[in-house]
Amino acid sequence: VAALELHDISHAYDNNLAVAGASLHVDEGEVVCLLGPSGCGKSTILRIAAGLEPLQQGEVRMGGVTVAGGGLIPVPPERRGVGLVFQDFALFPHLNVAGNIAFGLSDLAPRERPHRVAEVLAQVDMSDFAEAYPHALSGGQQQRIALARALAPRPRILLLDEPFSGLDARLREQIREDTLRVLKQSGAATLMVTHDPDEAMFMADRIYLMKGGRVVQSGSPDALYRRP
Ligand code: ADP
Ligand code: ADP
Repeated sequence: VAALELHDISHAYDNNLAVAGASLHVDEGEVVCLLGPSGCGKSTILRIAAGLEPLQQGEVRMGGVTVAGGGLIPVPPERRGVGLVFQDFALFPHLNVAGNIAFGLSDLAPRERPHRVAEVLAQVDMSDFAEAYPHALSGGQQQRIALARALAPRPRILLLDEPFSGLDARLREQIREDTLRVLKQSGAATLMVTHDPDEAMFMADRIYLMKGGRVVQSGSPDALYRRP
């Protein structure tokens, strides 16, 4: 069974149809990119998967279990085993790095939390920054902390919304590489939204190409962008 499966999702804001019958899945350990121009419905799909946007039509399954749709009461976001990284990283400014990461660890016994924080900080190569506050970090460092925070509760699924677009173009390639390594180590099924074909080519095992709220093509980067 797929780690994440979205089946026949449609979503309207007022009378504007943002997603029109999109279906996709992410297998265990896979990095999948949703690629397409601004406004094509990518973020809406990601928010529906996370449970941040109420499902209007279709079904969301995680590990074969329906979490929204099918006439059932939807599983709330915090019970979906999903880690989120947003474009602006959304770190809590009043908490230091350790506090930011520990925030999502309420299911862990208090005495085990510092160990888990240290573990994910090492994973993103930020062990020296536990006491630092977000404003004192560079964009790239904030991105690493946002990733560490998302991974700390060991989510089965990671959802990333344009995780590199707030970053300096010079740093982006290095950070992509580092992020991909961390994602693969974590083993989480990853769905990443991007408008940048290069980014999708680099990161993805598979790509879903979207246009106007629909999935218009899907396949491996090689299959989608085969050189003549
Ligand atoms: P993408 O992530 O591909 O840029 P979005 O899912 O953000 O696309 O948006 C898809 C469409 O839905 C766009 O036309 C956008 O303006 C609209 N939209 C997104 N969020 C909202 C919202 N909260 N209220 C109204 N319209 C929205
Ligand atoms: P993205 O392309 O990453 O979705 P946007 O700039 O389109 O970013 O959207 C940023 C935020 O604004 C999102 O929370 C989205 O729901 C909201 N939004 C987007 N389009 C609209 C809209 N037409 N009306 C109201 N809110 C919107």
